[in-house]
Amino acid sequence: MQANFIDGKFVPGVASRPNINPSDTSDIIAEYAQADGEQAALAIAAAAAAFPAWGSGNIQTRSDCLDRIGTEILARKEELGRLLSREEGKTLPEGIGEAARAGQIFKFFAAEVLRQRGERLASVRPGVDIEITREPVGVVGIITPWNFPIAIPAWKIAPALAYGNCVVFKPAELVPASAWALTEIISRSGLPAGVFNLVMGPGSRVGQALIDNPAVNAITFTGSTTTGRRILDGASRRLAKVQLEMGGKNPLVILDDADLDVAVNCAIQGAYYSTGQRCTASSRFIVQKGIYPAFVAEMTKRLEALRVDDALQPGTDIGPVVDQDQLDQDLAYVAIGREEGARLACGGNRLTRDKDGFYMAPAFFADADNRMRIAREEIFGPVACAIPVATYEEALLVANDTEYGLSAGICTTSLKYATYFKRHSQAGMVMVNLATAGVDYHVPFGGRKASSLGSREQGSYAAEFFTTVKTAYTAA
Ligand code: NAD
Repeated sequence: MQANFIDGKFVPGVASRPNINPSDTSDIIAEYAQADGEQAALAIAAAAAAFPAWGSGNIQTRSDCLDRIGTEILARKEELGRLLSREEGKTLPEGIGEAARAGQIFKFFAAEVLRQRGERLASVRPGVDIEITREPVGVVGIITPWNFPIAIPAWKIAPALAYGNCVVFKPAELVPASAWALTEIISRSGLPAGVFNLVMGPGSRVGQALIDNPAVNAITFTGSTTTGRRILDGASRRLAKVQLEMGGKNPLVILDDADLDVAVNCAIQGAYYSTGQRCTASSRFIVQKGIYPAFVAEMTKRLEALRVDDALQPGTDIGPVVDQDQLDQDLAYVAIGREEGARLACGGNRLTRDKDGFYMAPAFFADADNRMRIAREEIFGPVACAIPVATYEEALLVANDTEYGLSAGICTTSLKYATYFKRHSQAGMVMVNLATAGVDYHVPFGGRKASSLGSREQGSYAAEFFTTVKTAYTAA
């Protein structure tokens, strides 16, 4: 059994849980420890005890530790990517790409450690100096989803440590292997005991323990909007700092003047790759009437040619859905879309392959309406719909008519419409002639409305959440 990591030691859990390969349900990757509330409390206490020395410690030590972690992840990206694809179901190139991303994030924050700066300002009172500095927040609870099992933990753990915080990390139940492999690398990086802790287990028990414990000063969460609201409720009651990255219902606008090939590539890559299991996935194609027939025809042709199979098999374009529950949800939405009157242009059915896995043909609905549930609710699978519109103005209204605001894209050859869209889209990230999913790691990531709450993640903007500001006055 792969154990939890508490106070510098691997500690067995109170129970264990098998990790099942969604491409082949007969393949059990390993048994992973499950913590309870008591073990979570031990991890939090260890982090709190380690914080005074770590938070005020030498920044060269911090930078070196993060750099060692990044170097090892990058050196082992094929092996880590394979493990990730085996447990989560994204294709092997996607898995390797994600592992590499995690390594790059640790490298980025290894350097950011050395770039922490303050400000010195004149006072309005004569003979007084003002210094503004940033200090670590303390113990940070990290709660992550299953769809990016190494990159999302990396983009929370690396800045947390870089800015001098101690960490208790709770990964999603479905993907303990990537979390454990990352922990094993971190455990050999030279961090003092207690600075980083891993507690695997259910959100309702281990996650809740992080939310309720007053020694956890800040909670950074990525997951569904429903869970995010619950976390906000608990954390706000005891005034803990919170950062929430949640769901999306991301639009991709396609105007009549778009290059059809670019538009179809953006649509397929953004909506269906990684099995559509990305918070930034396009799930609504908002298409102007002139290009609409050609777009629907080309999408159908291209989607029917995609190969859905074992994530680890060379040539697979789309791997399986992550588990039975998610597959049931995806198929239920296909039925809902049909009942609502959208036209299923292709896919949407369960597939059988040599191995017993959660395979589904990517579903593409045409002639949808933005009021339909398939256009309003996050499905989180390979299901997307096309909504015809008459003008750019109508496209913008439809794109913004959603409770979410994470990512939004436009395909157009018009500088005017690209510029308008960047300005008027109500999303945190806007893409022009690019898929709505796929971002850089050195710039801010996050959204608006029900997609995000709190300050941005990634890049130097991460300092906002992982530090607290101090203003000091000195009489000269
Ligand atoms: P989820 O909300 O079910 O779970 C996320 C994490 O929260 C898991 O670790 C889970 O164990 C934990 N959790 C559940 N209940 C809890 C509780 N009561 N207290 C504390 N923790 C609890 O989400 P998921 O199914 O793992 O992931 C899919 C969701 O994540 C989608 O909605 C997707 O859009 C979102 N997501 C958002 C982003 C983003 O950056 N905005 C990125 C990736 C995924």
